[in-house]
Amino acid sequence: MAGIYIHIPFCKQKCHYCDFYKETTVNHKKTFLQALDIEISIQAGFLADEEIHTVYLGGGTPSVLQMSELENLMTHLRQTFRLSPDAEKTIEVNPDDISLDYLQGLKQIGFNRLSMGIQSFDPAILRFLYRRHNAEQAEMAVLLAQQAGFSNLSVDFIYGIPGLSEEVWMDTLQRLIQLNPEHISAYHLGIEPDTQFGRLKSQGKLKEIDEELSLKHYRLLREMLGNAGYQHYEISNFCKPGFESKHNSGYWNNSRYLGLGPSAHSFNGLERFWNVRNLHQYMEQIQQGILPNESETLSPGDRFNEYLMTHLRTARGVELSYLQEHFSSDVLQELMKTVNRLLSSGQLSLENEHIRISPEHWIISDSLISDLFIL
Ligand code: SF4
Repeated sequence: MAGIYIHIPFCKQKCHYCDFYKETTVNHKKTFLQALDIEISIQAGFLADEEIHTVYLGGGTPSVLQMSELENLMTHLRQTFRLSPDAEKTIEVNPDDISLDYLQGLKQIGFNRLSMGIQSFDPAILRFLYRRHNAEQAEMAVLLAQQAGFSNLSVDFIYGIPGLSEEVWMDTLQRLIQLNPEHISAYHLGIEPDTQFGRLKSQGKLKEIDEELSLKHYRLLREMLGNAGYQHYEISNFCKPGFESKHNSGYWNNSRYLGLGPSAHSFNGLERFWNVRNLHQYMEQIQQGILPNESETLSPGDRFNEYLMTHLRTARGVELSYLQEHFSSDVLQELMKTVNRLLSSGQLSLENEHIRISPEHWIISDSLISDLFIL
């Protein structure tokens, strides 16, 4: 199930936690879109033999693009790749960019899934994160998306934020549940060095949240969303039945994908490619007909470890049949020695040929998973 990811590298301002590649000026938007068109043409063969089941426009902020720009982009994709008629086509939007007209336009040009970055409904937390919108704008944006007929809406939230009390997190979750989106991504705040939070942390001005409180946030999240009918299908993802993100599931299922735009990653089944994280270098190289990427071939050990890392934090878990098909019996034997030890201590379960970690422990599963790496 192949997919295409397109990175639109523009944001009106930089949120303090964000590590994605972006520029805060749109001065080069037109030249970027021309370069993106060239890259689409150069990469026409990357997934040529496969039908494309998912398209995902992320960033940055794709909703800084005008409707005509998005329409041209989608037309070019359809002309170049074999898009499945029922492909999941997602676009990320920021609550303060959109109007009913804009949302209806997105539907008309073929988007059938919206992903909206909201992060919190608490004014102080929104200011701390340096988001551009307020809680009311965010709620209104969800209602507008529903009014425009989007019946597959995903919203992003962050927990594990220093200063986020249990009460405020509970209130945020209650408001979120009332809005009834089909899909919720909830991420624990990670403080990355090259962000405003990373700089504050290195100066001793920001302390990460206490581990116990962060666990309480996670438990509250699972409990409240579970009671509201959401399935916890991956460490950071919850959905109403049948609304898993097909695009992200592709990443977890080792499907092939093509990434377009600066910093975008691609995978052809054996090798990974990543485009340069610099808009100017990206545009210059593309204009000379050069793909601005580097690549690495994954060793069997890398593929094995990645498979464990991604699958042990999903409800599906690790499939023994997949391991048998793709890795040697020596590797499997070695793995099963550790698995058996962890089964007897109750940290893993083995049912219907699937090895799993129970969802309550996904958030503290790092060391458990690295114990299983054997190559
Ligand atoms: S979180 Fe989204 S809107 Fe904020 S800087 Fe990052 S990409 Fe831009």
